[in-house]
Amino acid sequence: MKRSRAATSGLLVALPALLALGGMLLVGVPSLAEAIALFVLVVFLTVVAWRVAGGRPSRMQTVANLLEALREGDYGVRASGTERQDDFGDIARRFNELAARLQDEQRGLQESLQLLSKTLAALDGAVFAFERDGRLRLVNPAGERLLGRQASEVLGMDAHALGLSGLFDVPSGDIVPYEFAGQAGRWQVGHAALRSRSQEGRLLVVQPMERALREEEAQAFRRLLRVLSHEITNSMTPIGSMVETLHGLLPDAGQPLGPELDADLRHGLEVIGQRSAALQRFISHYARLARLPSPNVAVVDVAAFCERVVRLFDDARIRIEPGESLSLQGDRDQLEQVLINLLRNAVEAGGDDEVLLGWRRAGTRVLVEVSDLGPGLPPSGNLFVPFFTTKANGAGIGLALSRQIVEAQDGTLELFAREGSRGAVARVSLPVSAR
Ligand code: ADP
Repeated sequence: MKRSRAATSGLLVALPALLALGGMLLVGVPSLAEAIALFVLVVFLTVVAWRVAGGRPSRMQTVANLLEALREGDYGVRASGTERQDDFGDIARRFNELAARLQDEQRGLQESLQLLSKTLAALDGAVFAFERDGRLRLVNPAGERLLGRQASEVLGMDAHALGLSGLFDVPSGDIVPYEFAGQAGRWQVGHAALRSRSQEGRLLVVQPMERALREEEAQAFRRLLRVLSHEITNSMTPIGSMVETLHGLLPDAGQPLGPELDADLRHGLEVIGQRSAALQRFISHYARLARLPSPNVAVVDVAAFCERVVRLFDDARIRIEPGESLSLQGDRDQLEQVLINLLRNAVEAGGDDEVLLGWRRAGTRVLVEVSDLGPGLPPSGNLFVPFFTTKANGAGIGLALSRQIVEAQDGTLELFAREGSRGAVARVSLPVSAR
């Protein structure tokens, strides 16, 4: 339809020239004056025919062209005629507003994309985005370094060929040693489903942990040395001075010990015995952290268990807030050690205030909570790092050991600030027992 109309219009516009040519062929070459008159006539008639044939685009055509430009993504186009006070002027103004908005949005999108790509480029962690069919669609510079290859070489390859497929089996958030083509070390792995243009894909994020872990380990080692030397000095100094004193008290060879001297010697030996026993206890404490026996899991009645531990303390500040009758699965002896640590921390933090011990069920878990009214937790992410302590005589072992015990029994241990009140809450979560 459109094409035949265009052909008719073309014919109409060409008609005057065709007629003039036909005339000349029939009549012969005109004189100069006739030729000029004929030329003016042909031009005039062509203009008339062009206008009749709709040579200037109609308004609807103009609108269609403008919309086509938008469809092609050219948001810089603007309609003229916005000053007109008719319907077309109104349409032109609205069109320009729409185009300006789309242009703004496009600019915003481009800026966000630029920001995103700069952020991805600055990231320490490697980011890989895979299509639904497992092909790599995006990789950042850290990812290129990990693979030891440029993006242009690896885009389109699948996770298996890149040696990354095994990382999808690692639970998100875990730290694992892994050898990539470009680098090796310990890495925290994260993955998630990715949805773009209704296509399912997968996102893999690999964060280098080697340096942080090494620093953490070195720091723990320094703390260990500090604590050990502090404890050993604490025990050895009195032992050394006591030995010296006793040596000075000893009578000459062959002389009898008087009753007073006898008592002094006994007392001195007792102190030495006590200090060396304390040192031994202290060392065994550390050894336990390194060699925790595997748990002997059984059914534990929560109320009876809590009451027994509280009785060990014999402290009026500790109050049990009885919860429902529940049993959990765990190693009673090891869990006792955990609860002792948590109650001791709470009592030490809480001063004269009451410490509450309670429990409840949350789905398939039993939550045992110790809350205190102390100053709250110190602003540190190291509470569970071995040997971290804020106490003058603390060893910094309690929380690290407790978490190790609980996690070996499929449990978790968390410490957090008490909601709406001062103080802290320590929460142990363990599997509930059906019995
Ligand atoms: P220690 O008691 O020997 O310091 P822990 O491992 O038991 O070792 O505790 C580590 C640190 O955690 C403590 O020094 C203290 O700063 C903090 N902490 C533990 N429990 C509490 C609590 N209930 N309130 C405030 N701080 C706590």
